[in-house]
Amino acid sequence: MADQNNQVQLKNFNRRTVLGYIRRNGTATKAGLASVTGLTFMAIKKILAELQELNLIRDGQMESGGMGRKAVSYVINENYRYTIGIHINKFITGIALLNLRGQILAIERYSMDKEFENQNDFVTMLAEAVNRVIEKSGVKRDDILGIGVGAPGPLDCESGVILTPPNMPMLDYLPLKETLEGRTGFPVFLNKDTNVIAFAEYWYRNNRDCSNLAYVEVDMGIGSGIIIDGKLNVGANCIAGEFGHITIDLNGPLCNCGNRGCLEAMSSGIAVLRMLGEQLENQKDHPLYHKRNSLTIEDVFEMTDKKDLLTISILNRSAFYVGVAVSNLINTFDPEMIILGGILIQKYPMYFNIVQDVANQRKVKGAKENYMAVSVLRENAGVIGAGEIVTDHFFNQFVNEVFH
Ligand SMILES: [Zn+2]
Repeated sequence: MADQNNQVQLKNFNRRTVLGYIRRNGTATKAGLASVTGLTFMAIKKILAELQELNLIRDGQMESGGMGRKAVSYVINENYRYTIGIHINKFITGIALLNLRGQILAIERYSMDKEFENQNDFVTMLAEAVNRVIEKSGVKRDDILGIGVGAPGPLDCESGVILTPPNMPMLDYLPLKETLEGRTGFPVFLNKDTNVIAFAEYWYRNNRDCSNLAYVEVDMGIGSGIIIDGKLNVGANCIAGEFGHITIDLNGPLCNCGNRGCLEAMSSGIAVLRMLGEQLENQKDHPLYHKRNSLTIEDVFEMTDKKDLLTISILNRSAFYVGVAVSNLINTFDPEMIILGGILIQKYPMYFNIVQDVANQRKVKGAKENYMAVSVLRENAGVIGAGEIVTDHFFNQFVNEVFH
């Protein structure tokens, strides 16, 4: 019996490996699968036939197999089921309906400048947006697997409760899983915003194969998500990747989290605005002097575009500290790939270069340079990754339930 169980487990492992490769690669041929999985051609053929029989995969477009020969390719049947991905953000919250290939069929973006009266109003907004994206997409409710949510940390992914996010106190102790499940009837999976973005980058960044990846976000806040061996590293208490709150300067400025000198207090968009406001006090001739108490991050980028030295020097210093922090990340995890995203990275191109240079100069000497790149999924990464949390759960469960 134990032997039989082991065999089933091994076969399911192989099925998940094949599915995982097709999911990440977008498309796969039998020969391609055989070479990456190490499984025999016959084993691959059998697994593909099973998955096709279940309608989980389908024939993709014909692709060239060299010398004019055509090989059949396989893709995930994107319309087998659907997911909903929600990305809660201080400025814009996204609510999307996605297929099983992470493609957005309908999306709503909700501007968060309006204050919510209470948490109940916020959950109502989410539940109503969920209904609207379902309606817009024309997908049947029964075909929706669940809702994935990426929200600012810290949070408890097990119980689905948001804890005390420093930059969004409105969400303090919101039991989002329970309330949103009650309002929509769908199962809800909660994870940290930067974790779901790391997940999106892992599944849909097709240009490079890797199983260890770190995503670092430098936005109004700073955070990260870490993938180890293809799995999200959430840590024992869901706080892994609270990259913004590692200490950079023991006597540095006070952070929203209550500590001093956190990376977020030194480098985030909020820190940049604070430092710029302070410096402008003594710069009466600066074009932003009169706005010094009501600065926005857009003001900063407008000035860097005009080659303003003050804003450039503040952003460059911010990037320097992020580079120092990334060198610590490399020394701790040595990920194959480090993806940087967030508004400071996207809007000020020099930022990425500085982070990359500083991180490479400061990490352990002698080792190869870790691959670094800017996020390509940009503003949709959050909803795509949130949906993918549900998709991933589905594929793993499905294989175990159907084949046992
Ligand atoms: Zn902090």
